Amino acid sequence: MSAFNLRPHHGLCISFFEGKGYDDRFTEHMKNCIRILEEKNPSIRLVCSVDQICSHCPHCQDVICYSDCKVQCYDRTVLNDCNLKENQTLNWREFHEIIYEKILNSKNIAEICTDCQWLTISEVSQKIKNKF
Ligand code: SF4
Repeated sequence: MSAFNLRPHHGLCISFFEGKGYDDRFTEHMKNCIRILEEKNPSIRLVCSVDQICSHCPHCQDVICYSDCKVQCYDRTVLNDCNLKENQTLNWREFHEIIYEKILNSKNIAEICTDCQWLTISEVSQKIKNKF
């Protein structure tokens, strides 16, 4: 099975996912991606471009994200904070443990996710306040 391409910042989005998304198609696809990651623990490749989650996003046009500059910045900050490299492969659980230790458990998430529209939804704010 080929590696599951994943934008590094999507590791954070997955951690906060509450079943809401840009539209129904995207939300169902996101749920399916999370199910695959959690059940199969596949090898993932960290990419700073559109990934398997982006493929069903209404903001993904001609294989480019509408918010490319902003999300690339999130991706590179996550890579840097986690001491990981673009195109590195590792399995999903390994990656999730690293982002938990280096970011979710130790850093103010708002420092990374500046301007993210999802950061302000109440469930996410509550989860951050309670540190999971
Ligand atoms: S907003 Fe951009 S980075 Fe986020 S899922 Fe959509 S295409 Fe991908």
